[in-house]
Amino acid sequence: MELWYSEQHTKSVRFSVKVNQHLYTAKSEFQRIDVFKSKEFGTFLTLDGLIMVTEKDEFIYHEMIVHVPMATNPRIKKALVIGAGDGGTVRELTRYPGIESIDMVEIDKMVVDVCRQYLPQTACKLDDPRVRIYYEDGLKFVRSRENLYDLIIVDSTDPFGPGEGLFTKEFYGNCDKALTEEGILVNQHESPYYDKYARSMQRAHQCIREFFPVCRVYQVHIPTYPSGHWLFGFASKKYDPVGKLDEEAWNNLGLQTNYYNTELHKGCFALPNYVKALLADT
Ligand code: SAM
Repeated sequence: MELWYSEQHTKSVRFSVKVNQHLYTAKSEFQRIDVFKSKEFGTFLTLDGLIMVTEKDEFIYHEMIVHVPMATNPRIKKALVIGAGDGGTVRELTRYPGIESIDMVEIDKMVVDVCRQYLPQTACKLDDPRVRIYYEDGLKFVRSRENLYDLIIVDSTDPFGPGEGLFTKEFYGNCDKALTEEGILVNQHESPYYDKYARSMQRAHQCIREFFPVCRVYQVHIPTYPSGHWLFGFASKKYDPVGKLDEEAWNNLGLQTNYYNTELHKGCFALPNYVKALLADT
């Protein structure tokens, strides 16, 4: 009998993947955690019935959430990563020799343990000596930090369940305080396509704009996320991610990437008209 994983993207749209095996299932204090194995996407992790990371397409998300801010300011030394329990964001950050410390704040230890076991491809750098993992709520963690980080990456679940607080005005205001004058904030910004996600994206954008003089949005294509069209938010106290990009400096680092390149970096900030209209509407 065929086994299919299916998730609800809207009330009338479902996304399904044929799977070979249901490798793991458990309920943590915060969410339902499942791991499946499939031919098309390899091993993949779902939280509360939504795909978080698949072996085959994770490179797109993780390269774009990390290399866009890192290329914008190659002098970033201290990074804070919120969520990101699969380890993919940390893995990409550890590729930079200039990074001195990475604090990762994940609310659910069970996600990290499960990813260490089933997704070593993403979890492989969680033991890098520069990485310190805090098992806490990111919303509370940033309340008591001031002028500490050059970069904050919010790699969270959607704004429903434990991730809800990471899309609030209070949270973005505290991120602003936790950042140095060089600071950059990047966050997963949901999809512009389906209404439910687009409304969250608009609200997040509106809140971030209240704190940061530079507030932009860039896009990526992720086959396993709702609609495949995904956005990241880029906010900064002073760095324009496109105008002052030093392509040569990043290319001289010699990092091999599968998705990110500096041409794409400039292009991903060019948005379709309907997305511009959604952002202008906030
Ligand atoms: N790439 C993914 C996506 O956008 O679908 C996100 C993956 S990552 C596994 C998201 C992580 O954020 C989860 O492990 C979840 O436990 C964590 N998370 C959710 N809310 C959080 C909070 N308030 N504080 C810290 N971590 C949180």
